[in-house]
Amino acid sequence: MQMAEVVRVDRSRHIAVFNVPMHGHVIPTLALVQELVERGYRVSYAVTEEFAAQVRAVGATPVLYEVPPSGEAPEDMGEGVARVIGVNMVALPQLERAFAGARPDAVLYDVYAWMGPMLAARWGVPVLQLAPTHIPYEGLVREFFGLDDIAQIPGLPQLAGALNEWGVPGGVHALTLAPPRVIAFFPRSFQRRPETVRAGEAHWVGPAIADRSFQGRWQRPQNGKAVVYVSLGSQFNSRPQFYRDCLDALEGLGMHVVMSVGAEVAAADLGPLPDGFEVHASVPQLDVLAAASVFVTHGGMGSVMEACALGVPLVVVPQMAEQRVNAAQIEELGLGVHLPREEASARALREAVVRVASDDRVAAAVKEMRRQIETAGGVRAAADVVEKALADTPTVSA
Ligand code: UDP
Repeated sequence: MQMAEVVRVDRSRHIAVFNVPMHGHVIPTLALVQELVERGYRVSYAVTEEFAAQVRAVGATPVLYEVPPSGEAPEDMGEGVARVIGVNMVALPQLERAFAGARPDAVLYDVYAWMGPMLAARWGVPVLQLAPTHIPYEGLVREFFGLDDIAQIPGLPQLAGALNEWGVPGGVHALTLAPPRVIAFFPRSFQRRPETVRAGEAHWVGPAIADRSFQGRWQRPQNGKAVVYVSLGSQFNSRPQFYRDCLDALEGLGMHVVMSVGAEVAAADLGPLPDGFEVHASVPQLDVLAAASVFVTHGGMGSVMEACALGVPLVVVPQMAEQRVNAAQIEELGLGVHLPREEASARALREAVVRVASDDRVAAAVKEMRRQIETAGGVRAAADVVEKALADTPTVSA
């Protein structure tokens, strides 16, 4: 009996997921992990303690690494990448030890978790990139980083050296700008310049949205009012003046306003709240979006896709370059209004919310994007791509 148990465990296929400690990178992967677990795979998920409960909630085993505390993320994306390169370098030896004797059959890795392909190269197992943001396209380096070449990003030479040392094929330019196999969590129609994407295989499966009850629940108040949701996401959210402007903008509109302001901005910092306003450090975003008529957002891909999947039009106030690219896509596709933050006065915010809530063309565009998300394949298509990658190789897990 005991023997049979051991054989069964040894034969189960083991998938390792590597990620960086960022909500916008971890959350989009969770539904896929859950689907893989439901299909019978054993999934190990390398991330920090902060995300252990989320990873466990979808049935994976957290493999934790530690990184020094880092404070607020820099708005400059080059500096942000330099920081995540540092995270990779600190995590790598810890994860090499943690996976010793437990080599997986395949590696899934976030766009910033280069420790994934490094370990996969050493193990000789297939790799698949999970992209919560645009797959690299012609012009990305300029639009995201304001640079001519990614080699100008601080920390890149260190990453290039490490990739070389670990035997990752192709080098840093190929891995980052033309990854061999990518699953992207948004539909192709939202991809910036899709015709210029150089990934070997690009699978735009759309957002993979699963149960998020580990975040708690939010219930719409029974006041019959339309709901406006305001959030700047998880990284660039320490912006008390922006939230005060939103209070001024939305007071007196007869709408119910839910604001997620992050852990740094206490509700008390915002002064007395008008009737019909709730302010939280964080909310179960899917619950709020399911009730919302308008979303005032920073334009992070996760938030934008969740809103589109639930049919909510957008007022986008981007905080950094990647979000400005999303804002441009949103305007081009007619999914809402882009309000550059220098122009996001209380008055401009109010006008944008009123317009977006009542514009039939915006409603039609959001409906069309929702339809495209529904047909993009979602979590099942993503899991099929993973299974195909696994089928290409013999089982090697220890
Ligand atoms: N989120 C949430 N509750 C909040 C604020 C954010 O659940 O109060 C989630 C949101 O649903 C999304 C993620 O955090 O999945 C934020 O990712 P996004 O790509 O939108 O932006 P980032 O935080 O990376 O800037």
